[in-house]
Amino acid sequence: MKIAFIGLGNMGEPMARCLVAAGHDVTGFDPNSSPNGVSCVPYVQDAVANVDVAITMLPNGDILRAVASEIHPAMKKGGVHLDCSTVDVDSARNVAQAAENAGLSSVDAPVSGGMGGAANGTLTFMAGGPDTAIATVQPLFDVMGQKFVHCGAAGAGQAAKICNNMILGATMIATCEAFALADKLGLDRQSMFDVVSTSSGYSWSMNAYCPASGIGPNSPSDNAYTPGFSAELMLKDLRLSQQAAEAVDAETPMGARAMQLYTDFVEVHGMGNMDFSAMLPYLKSTSRK
Ligand code: NAD
Repeated sequence: MKIAFIGLGNMGEPMARCLVAAGHDVTGFDPNSSPNGVSCVPYVQDAVANVDVAITMLPNGDILRAVASEIHPAMKKGGVHLDCSTVDVDSARNVAQAAENAGLSSVDAPVSGGMGGAANGTLTFMAGGPDTAIATVQPLFDVMGQKFVHCGAAGAGQAAKICNNMILGATMIATCEAFALADKLGLDRQSMFDVVSTSSGYSWSMNAYCPASGIGPNSPSDNAYTPGFSAELMLKDLRLSQQAAEAVDAETPMGARAMQLYTDFVEVHGMGNMDFSAMLPYLKSTSRK
């Protein structure tokens, strides 16, 4: 397939490499990067001319909207804009409408799995968009990922992503505060893990990504909380979930509290570059208010 890949950062670069390795004809564009192994051009319009699929992997919804307005007029009719960034649901729907107006179709397909998943082609894609466009991009999901779920119409992929990450943020905090409490109660961390990971308190945060070092499978806590998934990105996703909840008047008290705690963690304590599971040493170091 002839593909443009726009946004060659931590995620985009390895994803583009996977597509090149699978034999696709990939042209990249990023104002700040032109990695080896992906053939790049200096203007975004040149990257998308005559492509079947233009993939974007960008920091936020404002940048996505700006890039969409540049690339849609330059794409051939019938092409697909596949956005894999994590952005607000409104931007995803707005870009889908803009694509339709330009005679294109679009899919919003944010990912889960992080930089490791991007490098190994094992991401999970959660996709929103029409069946025909999904059918076009599915072979690309198969190269860059190991699982994909078609969640519904435009915006459904972003909706699924922020709901998942709202659960993740809240359960990580709950797991960390339980370890901090267990420590202060004199409970051995391994015993805590052995009980909770096989009892009703189990979760992905406890079982697969344990925030306590030396316990459970290898995770960022075993590597001095080097991300993994940074607290800054978790905060971004929690903010997106609260923005969406406000827009549709959904009561999300745990999500709102998780956002406050990660806001303090990142903005007051400057921990944005740490893994989001570093909430454990932070909670342990604070006193009850
Ligand atoms: P990043 O900041 O490393 O990469 C973004 C890239 O976009 C940068 O290289 C930047 O130069 C480029 N860019 C900015 N403006 C541009 C423009 N106008 N045109 C073209 N390129 C432009 O971010 P990332 O970690 O690769 O994340 C990308 C997206 O994936 C984000 O939406 C993020 O929330 C999401 N995500 C990241 C992870 C992760 O673990 N890093 C996991 C899941 C989802």
